[in-house]
Amino acid sequence: MDKKDYDAVVVGSGPNGLSAAITLQQQGLSVLLLEAKATIGGGLRSGELTLPGFIHDICSAIHPMAAGSPFFKTLPLQQHGLEYIQPKLAVAHPFDGGKAVAVYTSVEETARHLGIDDRAYQNLIVPLIEQWPDIENDLLGPLTFPSHPLALAKFGLKALPSVATLVNHFRTREAKGLWAGMSAHSLQPLTNLTTSAIGLVLMIAAHRQGWPLPKGGSQQMANALASYFVSLGGKIETNTEVKSLSQLPTAHAVLLDVTPRQVLKMAGHKLSSLYSWQLNRYRYGMGVFKVDWALDGAIPFTAEECRQAGTVHIGNTFEEIQASEAAAASGKHSDRPFVLATQQSLFDDTRAPQGKHTAWAYCHVPHGSTLDRTEVIEKQIERYAPGFRDRILAKHTFNTEQLERYNFNYIGGDINGGIIDIGQLFTRPVLRSSPYRTSLKGLYICSSSTPPGGGVHGMCGYHAARRALKDVFKKSIQL
Ligand SMILES: Cc1cc2nc3c(=O)[nH]c(=O)nc-3n(C[C@H](O)[C@H](O)[C@H](O)COP(=O)(O)OP(=O)(O)OC[C@H]3O[C@@H](n4cnc5c(N)ncnc54)[C@H](O)[C@@H]3O)c2cc1C
Repeated sequence: MDKKDYDAVVVGSGPNGLSAAITLQQQGLSVLLLEAKATIGGGLRSGELTLPGFIHDICSAIHPMAAGSPFFKTLPLQQHGLEYIQPKLAVAHPFDGGKAVAVYTSVEETARHLGIDDRAYQNLIVPLIEQWPDIENDLLGPLTFPSHPLALAKFGLKALPSVATLVNHFRTREAKGLWAGMSAHSLQPLTNLTTSAIGLVLMIAAHRQGWPLPKGGSQQMANALASYFVSLGGKIETNTEVKSLSQLPTAHAVLLDVTPRQVLKMAGHKLSSLYSWQLNRYRYGMGVFKVDWALDGAIPFTAEECRQAGTVHIGNTFEEIQASEAAAASGKHSDRPFVLATQQSLFDDTRAPQGKHTAWAYCHVPHGSTLDRTEVIEKQIERYAPGFRDRILAKHTFNTEQLERYNFNYIGGDINGGIIDIGQLFTRPVLRSSPYRTSLKGLYICSSSTPPGGGVHGMCGYHAARRALKDVFKKSIQL
């Protein structure tokens, strides 16, 4: 190979950029990681958004996908400062009238609280939990011939239908509502095919490894990944926004932790016209409106389960959540949006001064929305936690434009790097033999716009780096 400044350059230090950089550096290559902002981490940053001493997760907060990530599990992240805290309950879901259901570690306990849906819950989830070790590598990577086709087909049969179909397995409003909340993480109308998949994956994760949060904030996960990368000899430069590939030092491989629209801006003139056309057709989905609060006390949820859960899904019934998601997808704002709320300081006393608390919440909004949703989000929380507003000391909000300014990957407020509906599920970012390769030799995409998609797990970065290792450096690696 001819002499270059680096073997590889990675642009963007989100969990996928960090994972790609680590995978390459582990092979003894020289790797430079560039980040536009002053702090590394992308969707993993935390900071004092409201008042001094209150540490808020600016983007991601709860980490079932990271805790279960086949790649992260191979890394010595604990030795580099990462400590997971498991809330007593992964998720709680309150209903009008004061009742709530929750996802416990135990399947039996979760099912028992679903009354007449006890058996139906166990029949659905138990076989999938048992089969998970056989199918996780196929599901958390690019589309290839599966290593366990039968197990994958069984999962597919349950994951392919919409949530609107999945809830027909159940009779109670509690079970239907619980599944609607889990599946609404898909950021799509719940009548769309495959919306069951994300609900199933998150439910399996809750029973297998819980929904933990990193002690000290999500930033600690980014710091642990970066610390390990640097310990291997990797180099990081922050405050370096890459506007064009021509800015980069020379390298045999360049991996971009950015979405297709940004790839076009950085490298458009060097890409083939067919590939550029394909990237141009890539679709982004609905956005989010986010609020962080500094509180004088914990959120006073009426239901005991909600006071013990790391995450609370607020949206009442399946029908209400379905209406809220359908509205956001069709460009409308719901007055009773589905709200995802987390309460890290209940379980991690490093997040707020003694006796005080933090809370984090967002709702889905139309792509590109600039409407302030603070009022409706607070109203939804107050609905199940009367007195919540009296505890607010300070707040910070992000609309979709502000989110995109904060992290260029959140196009129109889309936190998944592009919509993951049936039309794009198998073709993100474009239909090609390897989704990570671009049409330019040595240039790869490693962000959540590639398989397996959004969430903090690093698997997009790992697989993109694996592809580059094989193509450019003629090395084959396996987890
Ligand atoms: C409000 C919110 C809540 C979320 N909650 C969760 C959660 O609880 N759990 C979970 O698992 N996931 C959650 N997510 C999603 C998760 O954060 C993302 O899926 C994940 O961070 C994607 O990782 P990535 O590495 O692909 O990209 P990102 O994390 O977005 O990182 C991309 C990085 O590239 C940098 N960059 C972009 N353009 C350039 C450029 N031109 N030059 C240099 N650098 C550049 C950015 O600054 C950024 O640091 C949430 C996201 C948001 C916004």
